[in-house]
Amino acid sequence: MSNFESLGLSNKLLRAINLEGYTHPTPVQAMGIPLLLDGKDLLGVAQTGTGKTAAFALPILQKLLQRDPHKKRHISALILSPTRELAAQIDQRFSVYGQFIEIRHKVIFGGVSQKPQVQSLRRGIDVLVATPGRLLDLLQQGHVDLNHIEFFVLDEADRMLDMGFIRDIKKILAILPKRRQNLLFSATMPSSIADLAKSFLNNAEMIDLSPKEITVDKIEQSVLFVRKEDKRKLIVDVVKENKVKKGIIFTRTKHGANRLVKQLDKAGINALAIHGNKSQGARTKALERFKQGRVPLLVATDIASRGIDVDGVTHVFNYDLPNEPESYVHRIGRTARAGKSGVAFAFCDDSESGYLVGIQRLIGKTIPVIGDHRYHFAKAIPKPNQKPGKIKVNKQTNHTFKANKNQTDKKNRSRRRNRNYSNNKRRK
Ligand code: AMP
Repeated sequence: MSNFESLGLSNKLLRAINLEGYTHPTPVQAMGIPLLLDGKDLLGVAQTGTGKTAAFALPILQKLLQRDPHKKRHISALILSPTRELAAQIDQRFSVYGQFIEIRHKVIFGGVSQKPQVQSLRRGIDVLVATPGRLLDLLQQGHVDLNHIEFFVLDEADRMLDMGFIRDIKKILAILPKRRQNLLFSATMPSSIADLAKSFLNNAEMIDLSPKEITVDKIEQSVLFVRKEDKRKLIVDVVKENKVKKGIIFTRTKHGANRLVKQLDKAGINALAIHGNKSQGARTKALERFKQGRVPLLVATDIASRGIDVDGVTHVFNYDLPNEPESYVHRIGRTARAGKSGVAFAFCDDSESGYLVGIQRLIGKTIPVIGDHRYHFAKAIPKPNQKPGKIKVNKQTNHTFKANKNQTDKKNRSRRRNRNYSNNKRRK
């Protein structure tokens, strides 16, 4: 297994990575970083959660570090993202990874005032993260200069196309200088993306981390609707009832994983957590004990669970539903290996029903419901015609939204205004 030191990254970046608690590069980082440092174009088939942001942000930062500090500041890197949330997250990652480097970065997206964005652009920035619509707006008004772009990243290309951004992307591509390094990331690779990739990548290297075909037929899946606060009691019941000998419980966060291990312990259930904050030594040890059957349960986050290859896992629990439907397939694919059968439970609270809709759409079937448990919560059942993925935002746990609270409030106010406006119109 490679480590960050061997990838050729500067100490300033290694310090930041270390502070974040990353012990080892994820596969897309281990493969992508050397290629990008080498100046190659890259086509990455990788979904959110694989660590792809660091895979492109670290080499970009490293290259910026090597530039002449006396040269005038220009936008050197442009990252296009389909949604404002993703754009804000990428920008936030640049703050984290670039904390020991003197660089300026900025995120711009629509739905908020353009004034502060224009002011930042005027002061000069190195890295611009943008959604296509607002970028084009500002370009047309002459506020953005893309003549010095050296790196162009098109992130979540499949979502871009789904959201109808193809014409905007083509317009932006037409403005960029010819000599530049290009990166395209997409969770899937339909022919439309392959065509787009061909149109602007040069001799690109490809990294394919798409989920391999996993036969989920042998897995007995079920969903249990439950209040968020009852999940920990429910997991105790289900684990005990099923006499689980080798099971993996998936949580969305590292803290959630730690908390759950403590709660299970109180209920007399032995479990170990593995996630990115644990040292490699601790993770390996936990995995070893699990493999040997000395501890019946692992509590894992998605990123830590990659690479876990344990035979004979009988049960998988989606304690929190993943926000990417593909992760669900990855998770439950940990059981029913080598022709064996397996059981997968999904706990769904009322803020997760949109995720469930997305998962069912991906796997092409409705997951049977277990309704005869003590904590059944009918309100969590998806509404008819509920859209996939759109869930109620929990401001307590969603840091991106917390950071953008003002924008969210503004959006809500403007939504309310629009609603009032249409009501008035109806009344007239
Ligand atoms: P991304 O796929 O870029 O959205 O990253 C998903 C999550 O993985 C983020 O929360 C990152 O902080 C985290 N992450 C990225 N790289 C690593 C790593 N090498 N080790 C542990 N966590 C990581």
